[in-house]
Amino acid sequence: MLIFMDYGWISSTLTIKRICVQNYLTYPYTAEGFFWSPASSRPSAMSPCLKHTLFMWDRYAPAYNLTSPSRPAAPIIGNPLFPPGLQAKAFTWWTTNKFLRVKDLISVRGPYPMTYLIENYNLPKTEHYRALQLLHWAQKCWGSSRSDQAPLTCFERWCLNNAPPPKTISLLYLTLVSPKSLTDILYIKQWGNDLGVSLTDTQWPQLWENLKHSSSNTVISEAGYKVLFRWYLTPVRLARIYHNTNDHCFRGCSAPGTMGHIWWHCPKVVRYWVRVYNLIFSVLHLNLRKNPYEALMGLPSAKVPKNKQKLLNHMFLAARQTIAKSWKSLSINFTLFKNKVDWIFINEKLSSIDMDRLKTFQTVWEPWIKYRHYDTLPTYLLTI
Ligand SMILES: [Zn+2]
Repeated sequence: MLIFMDYGWISSTLTIKRICVQNYLTYPYTAEGFFWSPASSRPSAMSPCLKHTLFMWDRYAPAYNLTSPSRPAAPIIGNPLFPPGLQAKAFTWWTTNKFLRVKDLISVRGPYPMTYLIENYNLPKTEHYRALQLLHWAQKCWGSSRSDQAPLTCFERWCLNNAPPPKTISLLYLTLVSPKSLTDILYIKQWGNDLGVSLTDTQWPQLWENLKHSSSNTVISEAGYKVLFRWYLTPVRLARIYHNTNDHCFRGCSAPGTMGHIWWHCPKVVRYWVRVYNLIFSVLHLNLRKNPYEALMGLPSAKVPKNKQKLLNHMFLAARQTIAKSWKSLSINFTLFKNKVDWIFINEKLSSIDMDRLKTFQTVWEPWIKYRHYDTLPTYLLTI
């Protein structure tokens, strides 16, 4: 990564010994020139170190959008795509006047006209021929029409501004290890297939953020991730592992026991979720539309106040834990759901005392306490 940065940017502004060695070995080309030119245009003889770096660059730069097709960062000197620039001395006037890369010859509307260079840079007559060569090359890079232009990539912006942001190398690593699209993440793709609905690219970060802050209690927080990451063994998955087992839903219906069926589509679980939503209405007075991403994975519900959302997160988590507790059972015990909410309530209470957040805890859990006071649970368990 450091070498990417060295060749892509630093080599044009600073003298680094390892770059000087590479430039000496590739003369009359420069190592930087190879970076911004296609593999087919480069000579085959070069040092093993540069060869390997370029191999990695060619593999990852297009895949992670580090370069754009118009090559705005391509240098004028030592570039295989611009043979006149191999005679560096012939372009001394241009390098002195800071015309170092393709971008320096281009405005937002396209390559500069010759008249612009004459009027603004006092272009000497001796440089007119080289100006024609450079502008012809810039036009080739720019493309035939405006629509060919793609915006600069982050990496190109850093190289062209001569001022990479703090932690550039970490940012580059983060880009390379991040999936190119959210649908490339396996569990996102599988939940989309199982549930028949998908979330947008803006909803997933909301879901992760809400799940991350759903509880400071590790046991409760971990339980939230188990469903999202499809930790549970469904009949379909077990049938794939053990070939003599049945892949049907363990609740007695003849449908295949996929993750989507067991957690959301099975008729018995549908009835269970209706009761859960009814209880949520009784406690929080929220008339929510049934949404598997909210109930199973922690997507925040639209227009729900922050404190109600916190309690809602706990109630949905208790509902999920109840289904997990009834795994391989013919039915789901609804009483267990209320007990699970109470269990989370007690754990959250202990955590809030430990972290000196009892007041927030009281505000969040107030609707549940009110609801339970009129129910059958002993009140000593609920008093704060
Ligand atoms: Zn079923």
